[in-house]
Amino acid sequence: MRIGLYPGSFDPVTLGHVDIVRRAAQLVDRLVIAIGAHHSKGPFFTDEERIALARAALEPVASELGIELDVVVYDGLTVETAKTAGATVVFRGLRDAGDFDYEMQMAGMNAALAPEIETVFLAASPGTRHIAASLVRQIAAMGGDVSPFVPELVNEALARKLAR
Ligand code: ADP
Repeated sequence: MRIGLYPGSFDPVTLGHVDIVRRAAQLVDRLVIAIGAHHSKGPFFTDEERIALARAALEPVASELGIELDVVVYDGLTVETAKTAGATVVFRGLRDAGDFDYEMQMAGMNAALAPEIETVFLAASPGTRHIAASLVRQIAAMGGDVSPFVPELVNEALARKLAR
């Protein structure tokens, strides 16, 4: 059984993440979504909220595509989280040159720490390439419509959170 890890902030899960999950699902039998816990800068959504949103948005995608999916929170090294999950592949999405520079450096460091774990980059799809969770949060906070960028349940969760 091939197991992959897809780490990120997922604050919140966007249609860009959904696209990466759909495509990673073609390559593994089980995908573990690893949500990084934030200690220094507080996330917009709590760990529990990010887990719940990721599960609700991504489990239907996984079952449609016939793979197993799990969602975990982690605050250690990504490669250690991959080992614990039994993953041999770490997936990352590449949107632009900014992602590329950062991701190449991370992949290099992770390969030095754990040579048995392979980083696989998936090029962002044209239709979702522009989507970033940080911009989604900013636009939503200013009252903009983020429905083109996130699953409907995330759109509703953003509206509820901002109404408080
Ligand atoms: P963001 O950078 O939007 O805050 P994350 O930190 O949760 O998102 O990103 C987790 C992973 O998903 C990273 O590898 C990131 O490059 C990738 N990713 C995020 N948004 C997209 C997108 N629109 N298309 C492809 N990959 C993406």
